[in-house]
Amino acid sequence: MPEQISIISGGVGGAKLVEGLYHTVDSKQLSVIPNVADDDEFYGLWVSPDVDTLLYTLSNRVNRDAGWGIAGDTLHLQSALTQLGRDSWMTLGDQDLATHITRSERLQRGQRPTDITTWLAAQSGIDCRVLLPTDDKWQTRIESSHGVLSMQQYFVKHRHQPTVKNLYHRNITTTGMSAEITPETQQALEHSDLIFIAPSNPLLSIGPTLAINGVRECLTNSSAKRVAVSPLIGGKAVKGPTAEVMTALGYRADVLGIADYYHGLIDTLVIDEQDQQHADALAQQGLEVIIMNTLMDDLTSRQRFARSLLDAIADQQAPRKTEVA
Ligand code: GDP
Repeated sequence: MPEQISIISGGVGGAKLVEGLYHTVDSKQLSVIPNVADDDEFYGLWVSPDVDTLLYTLSNRVNRDAGWGIAGDTLHLQSALTQLGRDSWMTLGDQDLATHITRSERLQRGQRPTDITTWLAAQSGIDCRVLLPTDDKWQTRIESSHGVLSMQQYFVKHRHQPTVKNLYHRNITTTGMSAEITPETQQALEHSDLIFIAPSNPLLSIGPTLAINGVRECLTNSSAKRVAVSPLIGGKAVKGPTAEVMTALGYRADVLGIADYYHGLIDTLVIDEQDQQHADALAQQGLEVIIMNTLMDDLTSRQRFARSLLDAIADQQAPRKTEVA
């Protein structure tokens, strides 16, 4: 059994594996590293959609139908803002806004984003580490058929319809094109003996974290077992534009494309039973392949998946230990 586990995650898809692991291992073993590049400002508030999806999921407050937002939340404030003629394409519920107001106030007082997230997690009763990969304001920019868009403009305002032509990230703290890993995330990755890349959109949800200075190096230099779970099942996303974005940016929209994107960063790729015809080609690239039913609909299937995945990884490692002995 690994002693320290890190998981690099996006929002809704990634949260499924994160939640399964959270309820399967000792949560003190677990460090969750969310994507911050979807963050954006609305009504003067700093909103961190993927971070909050993870916080709401782990504290069991999430709207399970949507996979994001708070269950039973209302939209009174947003209705009032709409009446004042304000843009309201980004749905922000009343309880959800309490998170954004609190985060924004603390940011204005100069607190570190990492510390604010740790505090929010503790307030929600979450007892694993939720570690921002960077304290910089690091945002994705999408060059598209509709011009240059932030992630929320692309995903929510335009419902991921624009054709994606290129992606980049920018640091709005320094106005530069790079961001720095936090000491906490570096330490978590360096001390992990198992690192997961969650079944999230590789380019939009994992890529921004990989593009932070220090993250890729931590993965390439790590002696941990590095395992990615494919977000594509039968070559299709469960939800969202993963396949379309991969194709648009020159990757195959299947598990071979996922392996290509994570080349050099992973030892093992977990693929769905529906994709097992690609297992030999992946093995020829030197990857260990685990074939499972990767659909995680509810908490029971998430826990079952996490347990089976940890068992499969332990089984993989067993023969190697025997050889060494
Ligand atoms: P976002 O940041 O909220 O867009 O979410 P993510 O990037 O974390 O997740 C989006 C990806 O999750 C999509 O590619 C989906 O195919 C994938 N996904 C969602 N649910 C599942 C699931 O149950 N199993 C697997 N394997 N992938 C999933």
